[in-house]
Amino acid sequence: MSRKPLIAGNWKMNTTPQEGAELARGLRSLLLDGPAVDVAVFPPFLGIASVVDTLKATDIVVGGQDLHAQTGGAYTGNISGPMLKAAGCGMALVGHSERRAYEKESGEMLAAKVRAALAAGLTPIFCCGETLEQRDAGQALDVVRQQLAEGIGALTGTELQRVVIAYEPVWAIGTGRVASPEQAQEVHAAIRAWVGLNWDAGAARAMRILYGGSVKPANVRGIMSEPDIDGALVGGASLKADSFAAIVRYQESA
Ligand code: PEP
Repeated sequence: MSRKPLIAGNWKMNTTPQEGAELARGLRSLLLDGPAVDVAVFPPFLGIASVVDTLKATDIVVGGQDLHAQTGGAYTGNISGPMLKAAGCGMALVGHSERRAYEKESGEMLAAKVRAALAAGLTPIFCCGETLEQRDAGQALDVVRQQLAEGIGALTGTELQRVVIAYEPVWAIGTGRVASPEQAQEVHAAIRAWVGLNWDAGAARAMRILYGGSVKPANVRGIMSEPDIDGALVGGASLKADSFAAIVRYQESA
């Protein structure tokens, strides 16, 4: 089964609505001919409307960087899945390591967010990954499997088909220190095997697993050449239209 690659740009807490629209205009013109991969961008909540409007005639999907587990109510400062959907989003990040670390998001909370995304008709990109200490202690695979079990382990096979997994080693995010293609491949293969074990071989073959952590135009080809890596979740390099477009077009570079 061939899995269509997905290149996703996480803008984090960068870009005003105006700057987001400008970045989206850059992407629209650089990716005018329709790239061979799926493309998604995740602006801050405030920028979603202007980015959705700018990208409306393209295939680029817009997503939320987070969502609340509830559909609405007394949750000051939060945004729900139905709100993202109504604003034109098609995806939502769940469990980014920055939210796990700074917002203390628990496995239980993330499982509820995955369900909330699915219920709202959004594709959750479920993020997992170990810290440097955990890697150095030889715990990387166990940590990732534990995060997956907590976040998506209780889904039915049908629900799982609508999920994308992103493996993002914490030590490679925003540090300039990319995992080697072999290091990433080892974890991606373990994730795929975990999916096969918990659902079935078809689910494992179909699951898209993205790599994230200091992906740049210069290293994306090496990463994408690994058999179990189906795309990239890109932070810093997604903030410039030309570098993100170059990552999206990784198949075209020599
Ligand atoms: C991210 O935030 O998901 C990420 C991978 O960031 P960066 O590409 O900057 O390491």
